Amino acid sequence: MVEHVLHSNEVFHAPAWLKEQANLHDFEGEVARSLANPDAFWGAWADRFEWSRPWNEVLEWKYPDHRWFVGGETNIVANALDRHADGPNRNKLALIWIGEDGNERKVTYGELRRLVSKFASGLRSLGVQKGDRVLIYMPLTLEGVISMLACARLGAIHSVVYAGMGVGALRDRILDAGAKIVIAGNMSIRRGKSVDLRSIVEQATEDLPLRHVIWFQRGVQSELRPRDVDFLELLDKSKPDVTPEPVDADHPLYILYTSGSTGKPKGVVHVHGGYMVGVSYHLRHFYDVKDNDVFWATSDIGWVVGHSYIVYGPLLEGVTSVFREGSPDWPDPGAIWSCVEKYGVNIMFTAPTAVRLFMKFGPDYVTKYDLSTLRLIAVAGEPLNPEAMRWAHKWLLDDGQRGFVADNWWQTELGAPAIGTPIVKPAIPGAAGVALPGVEAEVVDETGTATPRGKGGLLALKRPFPNMMRTIWGNHHRYEQYWTEIPGCYAAGDVASWDEDGYISVLGRSDDVLNVAGHRIGTADVESAMITHPSIAESAVIGVPDPIKGEAIKAFVVLRLGAEPSDEMKQSIIDVVRRELGPIATPSEVAFVDRLPKTRSGKIVRRLLKAQELGKDPGDLSTLED
Ligand code: AMP
Repeated sequence: MVEHVLHSNEVFHAPAWLKEQANLHDFEGEVARSLANPDAFWGAWADRFEWSRPWNEVLEWKYPDHRWFVGGETNIVANALDRHADGPNRNKLALIWIGEDGNERKVTYGELRRLVSKFASGLRSLGVQKGDRVLIYMPLTLEGVISMLACARLGAIHSVVYAGMGVGALRDRILDAGAKIVIAGNMSIRRGKSVDLRSIVEQATEDLPLRHVIWFQRGVQSELRPRDVDFLELLDKSKPDVTPEPVDADHPLYILYTSGSTGKPKGVVHVHGGYMVGVSYHLRHFYDVKDNDVFWATSDIGWVVGHSYIVYGPLLEGVTSVFREGSPDWPDPGAIWSCVEKYGVNIMFTAPTAVRLFMKFGPDYVTKYDLSTLRLIAVAGEPLNPEAMRWAHKWLLDDGQRGFVADNWWQTELGAPAIGTPIVKPAIPGAAGVALPGVEAEVVDETGTATPRGKGGLLALKRPFPNMMRTIWGNHHRYEQYWTEIPGCYAAGDVASWDEDGYISVLGRSDDVLNVAGHRIGTADVESAMITHPSIAESAVIGVPDPIKGEAIKAFVVLRLGAEPSDEMKQSIIDVVRRELGPIATPSEVAFVDRLPKTRSGKIVRRLLKAQELGKDPGDLSTLED
């Protein structure tokens, strides 16, 4: 079993004033209450929302299926927009969008409701109904968020695909979701340049029987084909006459694809009721949001953090959410901090990879700006190395005088943080934190037995909570596998260790999944894309340490007979992966080999390639063929 080798005696505390004003003071008490009586606990939080029909039962738990707020009817958008637009928050800023060039757009709750209602009306005129799947491939723009909320308002199910994914990835997701409508941007903007999205969408959808492609066009306006619709024209001509469609608490809100160890990506399904209750709870109690806060999650609507904490969480809580298109270090490495100063950001949610990028540029780009509003920096997506945590405390939070760095662990499947370091508890570098209210987490062995403290094992969750995924789209069996791999537990697929105080350190994935800049990428996906190259017989990819991205992808390739290794060949392989999966899954290194290490049953042993690469002991090789 795995040993946690990184020990540190260092501990960080939030400043006393911050602890005093924390929304959640009595952390241990809250955890105890949430576990002793989950129905009363979650029911009380759910009561603050509007339900068009009350629920009969908070949780129906028929292992491994969990349904929350059974019999209840609501719509997450009624709670995220209308509740505020019809109340005192009407003229409060809901969203601040920032472009790389400093352009900005601000919309109030009243304005956003109007835009979303109009666009929902436009979608309805194109035949979109409750339960239909709509695929969204949009740059990080106000229009991208409007698209999501308009779908949800109608009870349609959105599936956002990160607009950096390639042709193959996009096509697979449209097909798996069974989407008949695609909302796409013609370009995104990064590092001052426009990135062409149109040709990716066109290639991915060429021969698909879609009803419509709705184009959000910036810059060059292309000629539209018969099935194409112009986003802005549709928005402009539609009336704000759509009220939120009441849906069952268990009705799917969205499908978001994430990589697994085997086969194609899985469509994680989150539903209106439970997701709404869980995501908003953690925004208040973990991210410690106050009514007048400005909250900035530096993510994208293509990822779960964007769904939960750019869009739904902040809007449900009626706060102001900031989002910015483009690269964090463009036009200069201080770009992010100048926005924190300008908009008075109070809470920032970012990724370790971003912190490491800021470290690389040095503190001068930070100290130039007034960051006095910033009191909490939450980081998630991959382990936060102690060095990065130290740096963030020192330079971003004035040596910890001004605030706190809160690591938190979650997954696309979970919708919100499950393990984290709350403000009132000490932060231990290298550890994500403790189980949050409603969560029962343990480090276990393959039989589900808890490992002794100090030892490593598999990270398991022992009970469901409202924001946990409901199913895998079109494959409920795959959902059930999460709960059967380790008897009686939800298997997170992560290797972890824990200490006497319940602090859990997440050490990495237990399956063949890479974590590149906080994005989960299946080795199987990259290898399948590579194999479409006509000269490749076989390939294996591994993650190798990268100072900024955490992990970078290295590919080992066996060429077909007659094909010759060369730099051109390497480049053409990289191009194929980029085209199929997009830039985030692109290998940074390609090595040509004669054969790959395999088990007798024919499975590629990536662990051996990795050990060789890192100069480490490869462990037990008795099952190897050669
Ligand atoms: P995703 O579903 O793409 O958000 O990826 C979830 C995975 O990212 C988890 O299973 C972990 O492997 C990793 N991860 C997320 N947050 C953390 C964290 N705070 N510390 C360590 N690993 C993390």
